[in-house]
Amino acid sequence: MLKKSLWVGLITLPLLGLTSTAHAALKVFACEPEWGALAQEIGGKLVDVNVATSALQDPHQIQAKPSLIARVRNADLVICTGAELEIGWLPVLLQQSGNAKVQPGQLGNFAAADYVRKLDIPTQLDRSQGDVHAAGNPHIQMDPRNIALVANALGARLQQIDSSNASQYAQNLSSFSQRWQQAMARWTTQAAPLKDIAVISRHKAYPYLYEWLGMKEVAVLEPKPGVEPTASHLQGLLTSLKSTHVRMTLYSAYQDPKASEWLSKNGNIPAIKLPFTVGGTDGAKDLFSFFDDTLTRLLAGANTK
Ligand SMILES: [Zn+2]
Repeated sequence: MLKKSLWVGLITLPLLGLTSTAHAALKVFACEPEWGALAQEIGGKLVDVNVATSALQDPHQIQAKPSLIARVRNADLVICTGAELEIGWLPVLLQQSGNAKVQPGQLGNFAAADYVRKLDIPTQLDRSQGDVHAAGNPHIQMDPRNIALVANALGARLQQIDSSNASQYAQNLSSFSQRWQQAMARWTTQAAPLKDIAVISRHKAYPYLYEWLGMKEVAVLEPKPGVEPTASHLQGLLTSLKSTHVRMTLYSAYQDPKASEWLSKNGNIPAIKLPFTVGGTDGAKDLFSFFDDTLTRLLAGANTK
């Protein structure tokens, strides 16, 4: 009897091995690093995450290269910001991929911005006002409360798509959410000195960050969204600096720092580089250290003067 069950065991083992290889990891294509990082947190070993862009690329301006199309073709789930951030490239990738399961409206298409309250929704759409984000500001990853909302929605979606592993996704989500809530409590305490301070941004990239921390944006270096800063616009900002108590000017890792550095030098305020997403700075290695590093940089900037 004993001998027989041992044999059964030996025969079953290779079969099990075969079964687990047949059930390959879920292929996730993420448009930006923050969503790739979140998919990895919740998917763990069950997902194979491929990120389309790096933190040093401008997510508004990505080329729909054949290599990206090929990656979308093989994806089970496409996770992007949405809210028109990728309007110039994602629709091309989706169309050219010929992958029916990741088209808008399908389970394999996940837009993070659908799950948060969006800021800066224009009341009137006027393209002469520059590259305006018609669906509201898409840079939702700058507020950790948004990350928590997206995490819940993504957890639910992964359970739907890969239902045989639903309990594992639920467990990963609950572990992530618990650690995230603790981190958010710590960040909120740490960031208290940033409340009410006035700043100038390079691009309208941080309204969610400002809302979270109670910071005030008094001006933007881009004269219009998506339009490079001009000398006359910068000169005007410099003049207005004299009457406002601006503490620092902020730009994202992927942006040319020149305009921010000019204002810093001439206006005598620090120019602070923010990672903007995972990988934007050496310190921003995952979603947790992305916010740790962002706050460290903001607090250093606020203490300069
Ligand atoms: Zn933008």
